[in-house]
Amino acid sequence: MSVRTRFAPSPTGYLHIGGVRTALYSWLHARRQGGRFVLRIEDTDLERSTPEATAAILEGMAWLGLDWDEGPFYQTQRMDRYREVLAQMLAAGTAYYCYCSREEVDAMREEQRTRGEKPRYDGRCRTRSTAREGVAPVIRFRSPDTGETVVEDLIHGRVSFQNSELDDLIIARSDGTPTYNFCVVVDDWDMGITHVIRGDDHLNNTPRQMQILQALGANLPVYAHVPMILGPDKQKLSKRHGAVSVLEYREQGFLPDALLNFLIRLGWSHGDEEIFSREQMIEFFQINTVNKAASAFNPEKLLWINAQHMQRLSPEGLAQHLRPYLDAQGITEASLAQGPDLSAVVALLQERAKTLVEMAEAARIFYLAPVTGEVKDVEKHLHGQGALLESLLQHLEALPVWTAAAIHSAIQELAVSHAEGKMGKIAQPLRVAVAGRAVSPPIDGTLALLGKAETLARIRHARSWLAAV
Ligand code: GLU
Repeated sequence: MSVRTRFAPSPTGYLHIGGVRTALYSWLHARRQGGRFVLRIEDTDLERSTPEATAAILEGMAWLGLDWDEGPFYQTQRMDRYREVLAQMLAAGTAYYCYCSREEVDAMREEQRTRGEKPRYDGRCRTRSTAREGVAPVIRFRSPDTGETVVEDLIHGRVSFQNSELDDLIIARSDGTPTYNFCVVVDDWDMGITHVIRGDDHLNNTPRQMQILQALGANLPVYAHVPMILGPDKQKLSKRHGAVSVLEYREQGFLPDALLNFLIRLGWSHGDEEIFSREQMIEFFQINTVNKAASAFNPEKLLWINAQHMQRLSPEGLAQHLRPYLDAQGITEASLAQGPDLSAVVALLQERAKTLVEMAEAARIFYLAPVTGEVKDVEKHLHGQGALLESLLQHLEALPVWTAAAIHSAIQELAVSHAEGKMGKIAQPLRVAVAGRAVSPPIDGTLALLGKAETLARIRHARSWLAAV
């Protein structure tokens, strides 16, 4: 039977990074087995589900390239089907109407507690044959009384539950709406899911879902419950640890493949390897080798992995990823067209930048001349350097070829004649004049790319406003 996996998020907030890891594992398992990956939006909680959250899920999945073969299916559009299955179960006697009021159930639990028993619904409506006037009943699943339900989990191993511990679950509320565990069961059944890969916060739901599937005569899927992600302090990962929404990582300038690489490594390994391409992830991933212990999120490692992925892309490929971040820096198509070739700029910056945001900031200087009032580090590096700028102009202007090597030699000569051989004493004022601040990629390469005319124009401009202050 071909493998079918699914990702089934509830659209009640942003797409959480922990959910993305579950989605990734589920997607990888399908891709590796040549199976199909289904996306299902579990939106039955009408109060907490929003269209914005659904949109954020779809956007996040698309950004990450976690493409789905079927769906998105929406549970709110499947209500007729759930009602149909409820009716079948009532007819078959695997479900029954329960007319107990809340007070009655509460009193039952109270008595059980005083007897020292674990509170549970005692099944008294299983045999109640008549409706109660004016009471809208719930529907309960008729669960087995004895035996055990065993989850052979691919990650957690064998987990067994005593059936006597599991009481008759409500599968439809008194207003007729089906409950969460029931919808999941019908969906997994209808969608032919062979492998349920989900967060281990759902492990306790699994025996109940298995019992209902059995009552329906459905094949049981294989289960794999993925542990959660912890913050660096080993507490459950939450907002106070930083970004948890996947789209925030896009905003911060991470490459989708780098984020996936980081997530796959949380609790899974392949020898000592750290960096995986998307193809390698598909080739190597095995769901049954995921750790059952929760893993901690390490932001430094994410940055490192991102830098590694940035370095491995071709400059042209990386330039494509960079475009939206340049937009955000106010670098328009027009200024890109006037400045140096973007791939060449990327090649110069590729070794150093850890994120696309950092790279876009560093790329600014190639497309936007420094604005006089915004130049930084003037006090420290540029004041009183009018004469130096003058000599720089002369030396650079006189260069017969405009290459990084020629520019480097010119700076070196000036360092010898003006600064006791200290390159920094020349390079820093030059950086501030040309780039508007004392940090830039290697100055010779920067000027080579910027071009002779633009470099000289910027130095002249700095010289004239320096003279005026
Ligand atoms: N909708 C559930 C959640 O977002 C997932 C349920 C499942 O995967 O079975 O936690």
